[in-house]
Amino acid sequence: MFAMTRLRLPVALIVTSALAALLALVAFAPGAKANHSWNGYHWARTANPFTLQLGDNVSSQWDPILGTTSSDWSKSTVLDTRIVAGQAKSKNCRPTSGRVEVCNGAYGNNGWLGIAQIWVSGKHITQGTTKVNDTYFNTAKYNTTAWRNLVMCQEVGHTFGLDHQDENFNNPNLGTCMDYTNDPTTNQHPNQHDYDELAFIYSHLDGTTTVGSLSAASRMPPAASRGDLNSPDEWDQKMRESRNGNLELWVHGFGNGKWMFTFVIRA
Ligand SMILES: [Zn+2]
Ligand SMILES: [Zn+2]
Repeated sequence: MFAMTRLRLPVALIVTSALAALLALVAFAPGAKANHSWNGYHWARTANPFTLQLGDNVSSQWDPILGTTSSDWSKSTVLDTRIVAGQAKSKNCRPTSGRVEVCNGAYGNNGWLGIAQIWVSGKHITQGTTKVNDTYFNTAKYNTTAWRNLVMCQEVGHTFGLDHQDENFNNPNLGTCMDYTNDPTTNQHPNQHDYDELAFIYSHLDGTTTVGSLSAASRMPPAASRGDLNSPDEWDQKMRESRNGNLELWVHGFGNGKWMFTFVIRA
């Protein structure tokens, strides 16, 4: 018995430390309401407020929705968003260093209503994309301003480093687009808590910047932007999902502290 314990202990220690390292890496708090920063990820910048460009690759039907999302988030005291001409040029939504590209398209019956993808280097966000899937938004269930606002607002919110405030599909709405729900009516815009959280995330300043296309700190390995990035194969590993499975977070590592995260809202 004693010999067996001595034999097993190192194995247990190795397993425990490996698990601890893994947990440290993926330490998220999906239930946390007071703090819905996304693991501390943020855009590096040397002053506040900073302006993040949202590349407009969306159709005219989505333009007013993107406009609402942009003006909603720009009420933050620490950041402004500015809609600029898109550089993604297609629904593939190729990322652009230092900014966020926003795209729509009929991506097919692939199960997702919208995704947000963020590339990070260390703790700093270097580029982001948001895609909304017209295959579902063109159906009666989702073809409403409320659904479009909720999904656009939430996906763009993820690109600032925000997580969800709530992931329970069926409880009362919190009045924020960062709360997933079966009835988006009162969850189409950010609420004060989102602005407070942004102020908290961006309370420090950095010595460098990842905002803007010429930023050296924004460089990601070429492999990080390869493919259309629309499928779980490319999202790589699922880190977590909400209880009903409607919200997922995936991670793809590229080495040297560089990661791509994919937030998914399932249809
Ligand atoms: Zn920083
Ligand atoms: Zn989300």
